[in-house]
Amino acid sequence: MTRNHNERLATAREVLDGLSVGDALGEAFSYQHYRVREITDFSFYRDGSVIYTDDTEMALGIYDILSLMKGIDEDTVAWAFTARFRRDPDRGYGKMARRILNELADGSGWRDVSPKAFGGGSFGNGAAMRAGPLGGYYADDLPELVQAAAKSARVTHFHPEGIAGAIAVAAATAAAYNARGETEPEAVERVWQTVLDLTPEGEVRRKVRLAREMKDATADTVARELGCGYEISAQDTVPFCLWNACRNLGDYKEAILSTVEVGGDCDTNAAIVGSLAAAYSGAASIPSEWLRIRETLKFKV
Ligand SMILES: [Mg+2]
Repeated sequence: MTRNHNERLATAREVLDGLSVGDALGEAFSYQHYRVREITDFSFYRDGSVIYTDDTEMALGIYDILSLMKGIDEDTVAWAFTARFRRDPDRGYGKMARRILNELADGSGWRDVSPKAFGGGSFGNGAAMRAGPLGGYYADDLPELVQAAAKSARVTHFHPEGIAGAIAVAAATAAAYNARGETEPEAVERVWQTVLDLTPEGEVRRKVRLAREMKDATADTVARELGCGYEISAQDTVPFCLWNACRNLGDYKEAILSTVEVGGDCDTNAAIVGSLAAAYSGAASIPSEWLRIRETLKFKV
């Protein structure tokens, strides 16, 4: 199945809605994550009043480039991230992300800045959190998807684990989209297998393999053994997110609630899980009340 640019972009857009609603709600409820299910009345939230964070801001940067260039390369992605950071630096970027983006905004090249972060490149979860739309766009070309995810990661996350996190999330999102029309158990198998087929060897992949075996575990057990983003690394975020998305692939609302209630890096966890759930179930599966209150997405800086 090959698709034209507009069809690819339409899928990336659905994923972006899943990602951004998860991000915004995950952030808004992170301080009361354990009681997120009790929050059922959203009527007092004004339209667009629940603000999205760096996860969505950077995913928008990637989406813009896909939309304009029908593909991505590192220099253009770095430009998009920098332009967005300059315009709106208060999106909850992590400390290292701010440092990198400030240096890029001051005129340094990503090739000089990114490999030096933490001495060997960042393996934070920031490349994974924004990779979902790439999965939607490149779902019909998995070799190209791996390249695109690596490029999108490298400009800020040069460490192999940071890059592996982005590849894993993009691959999982692509597999979830490709599994539309399959039963949920079939879709889940396709997600795990695609991620293991495409993600390079390393800690992220090792923990994804463990997560796949934890079908009958509770979320708390998985979070305790694999992490749930408290270390904000790709390794302690991506395996948990894939596990939780696979638990509720066909139910966007439940996927987000069951993710946020565990705690950890709530906005990023929900952004990744929301990407997968929307890829499989479509943007129509996102509760309309949640879409209504999410801040309006700002395209093309
Ligand atoms: Mg964030």
